Amino acid sequence: MEKKRITDIHCPNCGAPAKFDIIRQRYLCGYCGGSVGISEALQQKQGFRKLQGDRIRNSVKQFRLFRASCSGCGAEIVFEENEALSGCPFCGRSLVRTEYLNTKDMPESIIPFAVTEDEAKDLLKKWCKSNPGKTEARQLSKLTGELKGFYLPYEMLSGPVHLTVSRMDSSRTYFCQGFVNDEFVNRSSQLDNLLLDGMEPYDLDALTEFDFGYVAGHRVKISDISDKELTSRVKTETEEIYTPAVRKVLESKAVELSANVGSAVRLPVLLPVYYLCAGDLMAAVNGQTGKVSVRALKESRYYFLPWWLKAILATLVFTALTGCALYAFGMNAGSSLLISGILALFYLIVTLCYFSDTVRNSLSVVSGREIFTSGDRNLVRDQGTLVFSDRMLERKVVSPVFFEDLDGTPQPVELRFTTPGRVLRIALLCFVALFLPVILALLLNGFDFQRLTLGGSAVWFCIAVPVVPIYLLKFGIVELHDNPWIYTRTDKGKKKRYRQKHKIRITWNGVKEVLRVLFVPPVSLAVWFGILCFFMCVYLTAFGFE
Ligand SMILES: [Zn+2]
Ligand SMILES: [Zn+2]
Repeated sequence: MEKKRITDIHCPNCGAPAKFDIIRQRYLCGYCGGSVGISEALQQKQGFRKLQGDRIRNSVKQFRLFRASCSGCGAEIVFEENEALSGCPFCGRSLVRTEYLNTKDMPESIIPFAVTEDEAKDLLKKWCKSNPGKTEARQLSKLTGELKGFYLPYEMLSGPVHLTVSRMDSSRTYFCQGFVNDEFVNRSSQLDNLLLDGMEPYDLDALTEFDFGYVAGHRVKISDISDKELTSRVKTETEEIYTPAVRKVLESKAVELSANVGSAVRLPVLLPVYYLCAGDLMAAVNGQTGKVSVRALKESRYYFLPWWLKAILATLVFTALTGCALYAFGMNAGSSLLISGILALFYLIVTLCYFSDTVRNSLSVVSGREIFTSGDRNLVRDQGTLVFSDRMLERKVVSPVFFEDLDGTPQPVELRFTTPGRVLRIALLCFVALFLPVILALLLNGFDFQRLTLGGSAVWFCIAVPVVPIYLLKFGIVELHDNPWIYTRTDKGKKKRYRQKHKIRITWNGVKEVLRVLFVPPVSLAVWFGILCFFMCVYLTAFGFE
């Protein structure tokens, strides 16, 4: 039997944990077939929180607790009577001490410390020893004594999320559903989010009901951000969790997400962390799994090339490779140059389709601090000593399911954008548009390449060479990005492409318009002249100028 978790939603019939079904948007029981709706699930957890709140209010009277507030960074810490706190552990300034009786900002759940302070110091020393090349390690090895344990305030998020997503280069939005598994959002304003992120994950099996007994010998940091700020952090972190998956589906790095987390269960929790902060140097050790996380002292810079430059560079590389290959296979220099030159145009079309992306329009530099960690293996206690666990803790992200309104009803779908087949089709269309008179001429003269005179199509090339690439950029790429191929699954689980039912209607106005262009002067004269010129091009290309 699985262990019961505080975060579980329980089946109202049999009490077993119910799993969320994204397609049906309900929690389903795997044992008896019962189900729980989203709002019932939220009520279940509200009930749990109220009971816990009452219990905490009663238990606080048995302990003599103090609260220290920092005049500098605003941190508030709750601790036992005999605890000595000289200055603020987060910024070093002086603390104001008062008796603590208020329980309303105390979370209802906690993961207790499993690693002692001495063990945490040893783990940090070990990290320093195994990273002798890093400045951070050399400086930290002298400071390991300053590592202090805190229960830090987090908001735990668990449940369904709704996301509205779009590509930045497209006006079309898509809708998808996800499910967040027990993610923790930091509720402190002073602490570095990425540093804390580095020492996650935690093992949720140890999450238990909070009791003031856990404060004994430890310090509890109290949440100091507003509800509004917290909600925005929860939203941002959910968006960050889903960004990689959405990027993959939309086939672009430049995506925008907006998450709605109103249906997910939120529980304030306390998590055990050993923390050290000395100026710019920051380190954290997970108080449950022993994972070490250290923030880099220096900012790193990342450079991004504009996408069109990438396409041009890729085209140059491919063209050079083709030229060299042709030459190596025995073709003379002039012909290799000519053929690779013609292919260059084709490469440019393909690479422009592939790299097109609006956020990387200019050369940009992004800076950020690297986070070093001790790796993903977590420690557990075995007969008094800490050993590496066989079980890996993973952060599981449930893949988002995209929904599209198909013939009036929302259905789960798969989306495909720049598939090789589609890019090739566009490239082929461009090729045909560029060489249309040449292709027709070849058909006309029975593929007699001897008589083919490219000069006959000069007029056409003058128009097509600048127009086709512009047309491709403006419409071809938009077609790729705005009209994905949509696949649905049949009842048997087979993938099937959905095609919208197009109704081609011939309207009288349309017919009138065509007739007017063809037969009413002066427009019709220009049109017929154009058509005549085109066929002249074809004829001259096919049979030459004699
Ligand atoms: Zn059940
Ligand atoms: Zn402070």
